[in-house]
Amino acid sequence: MRVLVTGGAGFIGSHYTRMLLRDTDAYVTILDKLTYAGNLANVGDLIGDPRLRFRKGDIDDRTILDDLMPGIDTVVHFAAESHVDRSIENGGAFVRTNVLGTQRLLDAAVAHGARTFVHVSTDEVYGSIAEGSWTETSPLLPNSPYSASKAASDLLALACHRTHGLDVRVTRSSNNYGPMQFPEKVIPLFITRLMAGDQVPLYGDGRNVRDWLHVEDHCQGIELVRTKGRPGEIYNIGGGTELSNRELTGLLLDAFAAGWSSVRRVPDRRGHDLRYSVDCGKARDELGYRPRFDLTSGLASTIQWYRDNADWWRKGLVA
Ligand code: NAD
Repeated sequence: MRVLVTGGAGFIGSHYTRMLLRDTDAYVTILDKLTYAGNLANVGDLIGDPRLRFRKGDIDDRTILDDLMPGIDTVVHFAAESHVDRSIENGGAFVRTNVLGTQRLLDAAVAHGARTFVHVSTDEVYGSIAEGSWTETSPLLPNSPYSASKAASDLLALACHRTHGLDVRVTRSSNNYGPMQFPEKVIPLFITRLMAGDQVPLYGDGRNVRDWLHVEDHCQGIELVRTKGRPGEIYNIGGGTELSNRELTGLLLDAFAAGWSSVRRVPDRRGHDLRYSVDCGKARDELGYRPRFDLTSGLASTIQWYRDNADWWRKGLVA
């Protein structure tokens, strides 16, 4: 099996690549533009594996895709601009990569006869939900340029299934955390700030609720979708642990024996979604998906990783 992993030098894509090489006999090609969020060190331990090849490049470049795609059976598509705050400041790059880039990749997959295309998306496409949980048939009501661009790419991927018969499968996961996450996202941002003895910035009143998913559980879910999912279907993937940002901040403060004086209140994010919550019944019943990490031990091992790998994140912040 030959798999093209886009965004494989990013946070989730690098964990997924490591899992593929460890648990399957797949030959893997990573295509990654190495934006500020991509880091070859994320797959540094895998370089030299004869089953891995790395190509620096843009998913929006058809010449590169025509070069890489022949012989590829499966595309697992992670590459994206992924940070909501950046999309609020400048949405253009999000439309270019997440929308145009995804369409370019789909076109190339069809043209070169790829069999399966797993499109990695997010629960943020559903918008915000005050009570209950979204199922895969809930309407798409995205609120940020990031989530709107991801919703557009989901629809393009599903349209490609209907129009061209490409075996497209879409995953929509909740917020990920774990080692090697760029320290602009809240958990690694707070960990690295607390490690440095600095204050952490908490948005608004901290009431916003997120479901937290360990990155390895997410990769397990994606792999189940790739191997057991059905063409044209969407699967929610969650961690089953909902916390307000205030509760999450409390856990991280406790882990560093820091008090609330280490927290600086900052004005709320514009258009900040109040709550995300996914119903993962479909992935559980059809695919046997169950998250294995509980948040307490997952956070503890993540904090330990940032303690042990200060060089990694300090370089990332400077780059
Ligand atoms: P990330 O920002 O850490 O990594 C993205 C990777 O894509 C980087 O390596 C970057 O260099 C690469 N990239 C960006 N633009 C590219 C382009 N035009 N061509 C080729 N490569 C490009 O993101 P992540 O957190 O690992 O997220 C991966 C995917 O999972 C994204 O599609 C994201 O929407 C989705 N997702 C993330 C989360 C989360 O909590 N992080 C949750 C749900 C879904």
